[in-house]
Amino acid sequence: MAPVTVITGGSRGIGAATARRLARAGHHLALGYRRDHLAADAVLAELRAAGVHAVAVPADTRDPDQVAALFAAAADLGPVTGLVNNAGVTSPIGPFTELRPDDLREVVDVNLVGYVLCAQQAARLMTDGAAIVNVSSVAATLGSPGEYVHYAAVKAGTDALTVGLAKELAPRGIRVNGVAPGIIRTDIHALSGQPDRPERVAGRIPLGRPGEPDEVAAAIAWLLSPDASYTAGAVLRVGGGL
Ligand code: NAP
Repeated sequence: MAPVTVITGGSRGIGAATARRLARAGHHLALGYRRDHLAADAVLAELRAAGVHAVAVPADTRDPDQVAALFAAAADLGPVTGLVNNAGVTSPIGPFTELRPDDLREVVDVNLVGYVLCAQQAARLMTDGAAIVNVSSVAATLGSPGEYVHYAAVKAGTDALTVGLAKELAPRGIRVNGVAPGIIRTDIHALSGQPDRPERVAGRIPLGRPGEPDEVAAAIAWLLSPDASYTAGAVLRVGGGL
């Protein structure tokens, strides 16, 4: 039976690249997104053209009912075997003292509460052989001073989620891991007010360039695959040396 994988934030960036890669590996896919219907439909058309069954569901991961609807749509494709907890946001880049409470709450709600709600749905449905990948960030260990310390703190929280859930679910044969991307060329930088950030900071990346979404997708796909059958509780850095 083909694997069935839920990808939150599957309409753009790392999530969309992961969807394309998993489709090539034969996964049926349920993509969640927040509001960009056109982007989600464009990815969906590509997945279906690759020959897999796929649905796109507008599901805000902050809302337990919308998360439940996303997993219900996935279950229509077959037993759910994978979750990529990926939907994430930053807030405007700037000094800690300028951080607005609403931006802080959104970062916590999407990047942490959303991950917990999705992992909870997945853990209820999944059986032996299933896997979860939480998309974290190198920020979790670097701290992102002067940019978004609160986002870094929340990403460290998702790494703790990975470690704890890996131990809780391993006895049921469910593997939980994380991927911590470095600076990857996606729309997230424009949304945080600095579209040219990947190029601007390339000089401090040991490999000398920002990463591409597909380079992160490769790590996610590996962690979901049987090739990673003995990997649990790991957070794999994909940061060009950062
Ligand atoms: P992106 O290009 O901005 O895409 C974000 C995706 O998440 C979109 O599909 C968006 O849907 C969705 N989304 C946002 N808020 C949502 C919500 N509340 N509910 C459901 N979906 C929501 O982001 P990205 O750069 O690919 O980032 C993906 C993940 O990687 C995030 O967790 C991010 O923190 C992490 N990361 C990224 C980088 C980087 O440099 N890009 C580095 C480290 C870690 P809509 O378009 O419909 O809003």
